[in-house]
Order: sequence, then C-alpha cells, then structure tokens
Amino acid sequence: MGGDIIVSSLLMTREYAIRKRDKLAAQLSSAAGVLRGSLLQRMIHHSSGCRKCARGEGHPLWVLTVGYPGGKTRQVSLRSEQVPQVRQALRQYHQFKQTLEAISELNQFLLRLDREESKDQERQP
Ligand SMILES: [Zn+2]
Repeated sequence: MGGDIIVSSLLMTREYAIRKRDKLAAQLSSAAGVLRGSLLQRMIHHSSGCRKCARGEGHPLWVLTVGYPGGKTRQVSLRSEQVPQVRQALRQYHQFKQTLEAISELNQFLLRLDREESKDQERQP
C-alpha cells in the first residue's frame, strides 16, 4: 500500500519533469538566429588628417569578439547598423544555452528517477 503511494508520487514528478522539459525544448525550435561572442566598442584614432581625431574625439567602432578553445579569438568589425541585430542574436544564443542546460538537468533528473524506480522494484518480493 505504502509502496503504491511512493510510486504514484514519483510518476507525478516524472510527468511534471517531462512536461517541463518538452515545453523548454519547444522554445529551441528556432536556433537560426544565434550568435556567440561579445560586443565591444573601440575608438579609432587617425594619426593625421582628421579634424575629429585632432580634437581627440576619434571614431567609434563596434567589434564582435569570439573566443575559441586554446585561447584564440576572432574579431569581426561591425557596421553600426548591424549592432542591434548582433545584440539580439547574442541574447538569443544566451537564452538558447540556458534552455539547453535546463533540459539537460531535467533529463539527468529523469535518469536518476529511472534508477531509483528500478531499485524499488528489485526490493519488492
Ligand atoms: Zn579620424
């Protein structure tokens, strides 16, 4: 009798975990817009022949920097009109990664649940 209650509560938890996982996975349907890296703004200064730079103002330059294993980095210069799009894509990458991580945690939980359930069954006479 007591065993039945434990099993049904485990099933509830399992159902909840599966529902939550599938809901999260549905959010990952569109990965097309993701972009990894970080956005930096640099100032460029011309050494001569530029009045703006002579006044010490310089020109802002947006750069996407992307790190790779082994400490390598790639830098991509951006036009200022690309910046909003890049910002959005970086946000999407971050969200995607967090969702992926949450799904992985739920699957890990389900794996542990499977193991505990099979242990319970072994214990039964
Ligand atoms: Zn200049």
